[in-house]
Amino acid sequence: MPDTPPVIEIRDLHKRYGDLEVLKGVDITAHRGDVVSLIGSSGSGKSTLLRCANLLEDSQQGEILFKGEPVHWKGQAGHRRPGDPKQVLRIRTNLSMVFQQFNLWAHMSILQNVMEAPLTVLRRDRAEVEKAARGYLDKVGIGDKCDVYPAQLSGGQQQRAAIARALCMEPEALLFDEPTSALDPELEQEVVKVIKDLAGEGRTMLIVTHDMKLAADVSDHVVFLHRGLIEEEGPPDRLFGAPQSERLRGFLSATH
Ligand code: ADP
Ligand code: MG
Repeated sequence: MPDTPPVIEIRDLHKRYGDLEVLKGVDITAHRGDVVSLIGSSGSGKSTLLRCANLLEDSQQGEILFKGEPVHWKGQAGHRRPGDPKQVLRIRTNLSMVFQQFNLWAHMSILQNVMEAPLTVLRRDRAEVEKAARGYLDKVGIGDKCDVYPAQLSGGQQQRAAIARALCMEPEALLFDEPTSALDPELEQEVVKVIKDLAGEGRTMLIVTHDMKLAADVSDHVVFLHRGLIEEEGPPDRLFGAPQSERLRGFLSATH
């Protein structure tokens, strides 16, 4: 069987904001079906890495490949940006993001929220999109909330709507940025369950999380970022069960 390229491959990525170098040469690979979790202290660069992968941010150096296809940059080294708008759109819609703060449109019903991007960005057929959207809302357990507005839902329900919205783009991979951090503990679990179900289905996912139990339960691979560099990485059993670096041991004991 021919080797298929990873869905996401990031090589030696460097990213700076002004004089602040936030990513100092980071490599991440997620093959189809892989769940890769990113852990690390606040400010270590986890969100920046996800935003770079999704081409929401420029970067200064390194490669980003989507299914083997390298991102085309334009401009000089140090001032480059993605140069092909069609490629940016293709990659961004295929790496669908779920944010900590849900980011639902307040003036649209839940169903409209889920349908909006497939209709306007992908220009899909309305009847098909509606059918798919209702299906994804059912899947995340809020099929009865199609006609209500985000403010009428709990945080956990809003985040599940945001996950349905990401799924409705039919992406190759889902990128989660602290999907449970804004939630009360009892609502966290309903979102964790959805993420576990998605992992069980073989979805490709990159998950930034402070929830070590979630990372341990769903990940094939865990990456510990420290100040813009990978300090340690490996399968969850080893990373959580036998951490090698002093920093990771310190981080884990502080989060338990
Ligand atoms: P994490 O998600 O791991 O908490 P971030 O990726 O959000 O970390 O941030 C990494 C570093 O980059 C932090 O020092 C943060 O202050 C800085 N940073 C993030 N976004 C910006 C920005 N838009 N402009 C300037 N600095 C930023
Ligand atoms: Mg963050």
